[in-house]
Amino acid sequence: MPLVAAIPAAPRSLLDFTFAELERDFIASGLAAVHVRALWRALQRELKNEFRGDEEFSPPLQRWLTANVGAGKAFFIDAPPETADIASSDGLTRKFLLRLVDGQTIETVLMGFTGRHTACVSTQAGCAMDCVFCATGQMGFVRHLRPGEIVAQVRHAQRALRASGQADLRNLVLMGMGEPLHNYDAVMTALDIITDRRGLNLGPSKITISTVGVVSGILRLGEEQRPYHLAVSLHGATEAERSALVPASKRWPLAELMAACQTYYTKTQRRIFFEWTLIAGQNDSPAQAERLVVLLQGLDAHVNLIPLNPTGGFAGIATASEAAKNFKQVLQAAGIPSTIRQRRGIDVAAGCGQLRAEKSRA
Ligand code: SAH
Repeated sequence: MPLVAAIPAAPRSLLDFTFAELERDFIASGLAAVHVRALWRALQRELKNEFRGDEEFSPPLQRWLTANVGAGKAFFIDAPPETADIASSDGLTRKFLLRLVDGQTIETVLMGFTGRHTACVSTQAGCAMDCVFCATGQMGFVRHLRPGEIVAQVRHAQRALRASGQADLRNLVLMGMGEPLHNYDAVMTALDIITDRRGLNLGPSKITISTVGVVSGILRLGEEQRPYHLAVSLHGATEAERSALVPASKRWPLAELMAACQTYYTKTQRRIFFEWTLIAGQNDSPAQAERLVVLLQGLDAHVNLIPLNPTGGFAGIATASEAAKNFKQVLQAAGIPSTIRQRRGIDVAAGCGQLRAEKSRA
């Protein structure tokens, strides 16, 4: 049998395939199971970005790779080059701007201390959700990312850690550019790949999907019993206050969103994280915290309070630390755990979409 896969109309990324898909499609086209395992290992564990022909593969696999993978051939490997790599002054955040094959740029952030790194990846180029304070929202939607383009960001972060002699990546958050549940299928395929034990092997319990509140996506996550953490961006506890900041609330109203969270909780018994960007004078009063307490009744909730990162298109300013503590105090008195997130990496524009926005202005 010839060791040449059916040539797809347009080149496809090898990183778009889960292990099961690779087995199904490639074994059918002539590669043996042992070759698929070797290929997967090279791609997803050794994180190879190219094959030079001098790898220690068996001759049939080597021939297949030479015939099928590379420029002008049926398959390629997503390896977006860096157009920027910036470290924060405290050394705890590194931000990469990566250029995709069509010239779009996306952000990937690496955060944390030695041995405990978290990668923050993008799921779309731009975003359709229009959150007023978010740099990505301000640039608008360009396109969805393919699974391989999401996987490639995790590989990029992992390779950067390995290159500097650090331990492998521990945590992953889908809090970069884009709305993960607006690109549901690609995101779930990417996470299947990233959590594969034969490959990158990130623990599902170390992965957080953050959503603006796409109701259908939250319900689907629950129905499918996806083993990831769910974070919901709330920012307001009444419809009027929320939709002033998060226009997507008009499409998925707060009442429907909270009902979906209850359904998700009933189905999964999982804690839900709620994100609340603290904006001075807008959503940071004790009365607003009280309303949030009421909204979260009946859930196992944890609130992440994020002081606003200033962006070009929004005039608001961050809540001062005293007011943030008062807000937290109200939650605490009601038995709701919360964390005030440090504005780590603010000097490298670590807010969602800020680096790309800066670079395109320059
Ligand atoms: N689309 C997803 C992921 C976005 S980024 C979502 O909406 O959840 C992750 C979090 O950062 C969201 O809660 C988002 O509202 C928040 N965020 C975006 N820009 C910010 C800024 N400039 N300052 C503070 N938080 C911001």
